[in-house]
Amino acid sequence: MNSIFESGIFDTHAHYDSSRFDGDRYEVLDELFGSGTLYAAVNCGCDVASSEKSLELAHRYPRMYCAVGIHPHEAKAADDRAFEQISQMLKDGKAVALGEIGLDYHYDFSPRDVQKEVFERQLCMAEQLDIPVVIHDREAHADCIEAVLKHPRVRGVFHSFSGSAETARLLQKAGWYLSFSGPITFKNNQKTPEAALATYNDRLLVETDCPYLTPVPHRGERNHSGYVRHIIEKIAELRGDTYEFVETLTRENAKRFFGIKE
Ligand SMILES: [Zn+2]
Repeated sequence: MNSIFESGIFDTHAHYDSSRFDGDRYEVLDELFGSGTLYAAVNCGCDVASSEKSLELAHRYPRMYCAVGIHPHEAKAADDRAFEQISQMLKDGKAVALGEIGLDYHYDFSPRDVQKEVFERQLCMAEQLDIPVVIHDREAHADCIEAVLKHPRVRGVFHSFSGSAETARLLQKAGWYLSFSGPITFKNNQKTPEAALATYNDRLLVETDCPYLTPVPHRGERNHSGYVRHIIEKIAELRGDTYEFVETLTRENAKRFFGIKE
């Protein structure tokens, strides 16, 4: 491990393919990587088209990686060909996870039975290919947990974790990682700081989910990986650790989780 010579944020979940970066995508990323602010990032696909874009971005920067998969919002459009395309993309060395996959009962853009079926099919794919998964769980905690616990051999992360401390403990016992994003800094949010305090050192990850979920004090602006600093600061403050400790810890955890060797 060469961690003492490394620095910077590992943003485990971003959407730089979003149209909100169309005007300055490469300028933003050149600056983040060039300045050393950003050690690495994983761009997450939501359907075949955004997964292809994520893969393209990953090939543009040495330390950009991607997850490819079908988001619950897009579940209703997923046909056999889409699953085949996702599994083909996973053969690329830059595709380090299957995601984002899961259940979203907040928006319900796809019928719940279809979301569950598409989620289950991708959990089976992850098990066969032995690749980690990135879980999107919005207001669907019970069904998401039930689905993942049925696959004890699947490893993964609950991205932008929004569950309780109790759920955090339960998932970690089953080997899952938890990733924290902007909402941990929101003033009316007590639950997420409690969940972060209940997260073991070796299971803790951080992310932007940019362009969404911008942390305090930048709420209202477009999010980017540099703002993960505020999430790390918040976690460090909560746990009585230094910024450097939490940045290094989350970077090393992410490298191990995604199997990144260099
Ligand atoms: Zn996302």
